[in-house]
Amino acid sequence: MALDKNPKSFTKITLDEGEMPTQWYNIIPDLPSPPPPPLHPGTLQPVGPDDLAPLFPMDLILQEVSSESYIDIPGEVLDIYRQWRPSPLYRARGLEKALGTPARIYYKYEGVSPAGSHKANTSVPQAYYNKKAGKKKITTETGAGQWGTALSYACSLFGLECEIWQVGGSFDSKPYRRLMMEVFGAKVHRSPSNVTEAGRRLGADPKNFSGSLGIAISEAVEIAAQDPDAAYALGSVLNHVLLHQTIIGEEALRQFAKIEETPTLLVGCTGGGSNFAGLSFPFIREKLKGKMNPEIRAVEPASCPSLTRGKYAYDFGDTAGMTPLMKMHTLGHDFIPDPIHAGGLRYHGMSPLISHIYELGLMTASAVQQTECFEAAIKFARTEGIVPAPEPTHAIAIAIREALEAKKTGEEKVILTALCGHGHFDLAAYDQFLRGDMKDSVLKDSDFESALAALPRV
Ligand SMILES: *Cc1c(COP(=O)(O)O)cnc(C)c1O
Repeated sequence: MALDKNPKSFTKITLDEGEMPTQWYNIIPDLPSPPPPPLHPGTLQPVGPDDLAPLFPMDLILQEVSSESYIDIPGEVLDIYRQWRPSPLYRARGLEKALGTPARIYYKYEGVSPAGSHKANTSVPQAYYNKKAGKKKITTETGAGQWGTALSYACSLFGLECEIWQVGGSFDSKPYRRLMMEVFGAKVHRSPSNVTEAGRRLGADPKNFSGSLGIAISEAVEIAAQDPDAAYALGSVLNHVLLHQTIIGEEALRQFAKIEETPTLLVGCTGGGSNFAGLSFPFIREKLKGKMNPEIRAVEPASCPSLTRGKYAYDFGDTAGMTPLMKMHTLGHDFIPDPIHAGGLRYHGMSPLISHIYELGLMTASAVQQTECFEAAIKFARTEGIVPAPEPTHAIAIAIREALEAKKTGEEKVILTALCGHGHFDLAAYDQFLRGDMKDSVLKDSDFESALAALPRV
């Protein structure tokens, strides 16, 4: 029997612990063609598992190149996930009412993890596999600080050392993020730092003073590559990271099934693409099987628009050019985005897997300005009671646009988004918006020219 669409009883749709998925979903075997392989920057040959071994434990490398559709989540990881998973799915009744829209808006809330974002879904398995491989230390970068928080949390659970390069601009403006990482036991550097060769070289150029994710990655990779007891961990972009996040979408599918609801639009913010992939890949699987037909839409900041204005080309993942070349939508590894508040979305490239899926035409993309995002965030906070992280406000802005459109056309819309983190450490950005000091950045095509001209020739 179809449930009435309006009872108050399903404002919050939960799953029992026993209904939590026990496998991650790998979308690659279901795609009409596989994504182009990463290339060795010297030989331009596809990189094999052995090339990645200095940086990652073999279990993660095998997930990176896996052709299995489903991968079992280890029991130790499931035990930790159960602290906050399954995460709740909410219907945004307050927001719908304020907008006066006939659209039904749902959000899957990942801010319930101890780290406050979806990043813990991958930091926990990454720490687990590194510990299992005998590693003693993990190095990483962090932009807004959410990934660093999530990784330092996971390392503390597994007794691993954690050393983090935090993008300079974020280090200066978000002292509480750094403190939270330190509470979990991490050592945090302001990037560019003087403890790495890449940091010293790139830091000598004044335009790099505020840092970037690309620079911080170079620093973390350099240290991990030199130390056999250390590994490097990335919080987004790579296949295994996207894989770990699919638990979000698998849970959401079960939650939608419970209320006999089918989305018509999935909308998620994209920095490197992991929360978006986590929510959408299981739905793309259902779409490919013909079971539903939602539009799948990525939303990026207008000031760092890799999907909508970047080039689909081979590029480095970092600024110093130490990583393999990945085919992705990129603004160029030298591109330094404006210091917007959604630090987690300030990456020059997009996940190669998402880039490939975009090229296949299985999803769409939009870019929005930050003032529209914060306007949406305030509306959301005042009607739903959750202060979103700046990143997911990009998706909320588009959800609101679409809901208002549905009000005009009367079209039946069911919108689902991932509210991938809370904004409790981002209140300075809210302050700036509320004071009327937040500015949008309008980029001309010529602003992208020099970084795109420096793409490696492949
Ligand atoms: C890191 C982060 C992002 C951006 O990364 P994705 O891999 O694109 O998800 C977005 N939102 C939050 C809350 C984050 O922590």
